[in-house]
Amino acid sequence: MKSITRQKLPEEIEQQLQGFDRVYIAGCGTCATMTRTGGREEVLAMRERLQQLGKLVTGWIVIPTACDDMTQAAMEENNGAIRNAGCILVMSCALGVHRMSTCLARPVIPALDTLFIGIEDGSGCFQEACAQCGQCVLGETAGICPVTACHKGLLNGPCGGTNQGKCEVDSEKDCAWTIIHQRLTDQGRVDAMRRYHSARNYNIAPRPRMTRIV
Ligand code: SF4
Ligand code: SF4
Repeated sequence: MKSITRQKLPEEIEQQLQGFDRVYIAGCGTCATMTRTGGREEVLAMRERLQQLGKLVTGWIVIPTACDDMTQAAMEENNGAIRNAGCILVMSCALGVHRMSTCLARPVIPALDTLFIGIEDGSGCFQEACAQCGQCVLGETAGICPVTACHKGLLNGPCGGTNQGKCEVDSEKDCAWTIIHQRLTDQGRVDAMRRYHSARNYNIAPRPRMTRIV
């Protein structure tokens, strides 16, 4: 399971770095390395790009796992170069950005957009399997998540647009509800599809969502 990210457009990063002439860059050795958005190679490429823009890169690091609590120790070890910078450009998912912002007084700027939590589905291919909605219906949908697999996120599908097993939003993709129907039929449980799912109760998990393990 990985936090899937995409690099922001160069002009967006440039715009966010306006007013900062000295920048420290931090990447992540876990998810962002695997997705090739914030590993060593990408951090070094970013350093070069920033230097071409006339910025002074005071230092860089690839933290083993930017979102965990070892990040603070890594930041302290590099305190000199960080203090020399006006801001930290973070090439990790938003969890790493958040972690760094809690242990640094300097402005922390994300270089990546966090898209979803994905599972690897073949080499270099990641797929969203769960949006952590807080009200799991997989037991009634034969293990297929309609929130993420259906383009409209329908809890009561299919919509009227499914066409020969393909989705009306993207004809290249299978209709999630057609697959749900097939799997429920195979399991002899197709009646589960007739059960109406009422509108999601967002109150179940008010934001910010949190839990405490006792
Ligand atoms: S219904 Fe889908 S999004 Fe919600 S918890 Fe289950 S798998 Fe995750
Ligand atoms: S065609 Fe299927 S997957 Fe596409 S939006 Fe309709 S129900 Fe969802």
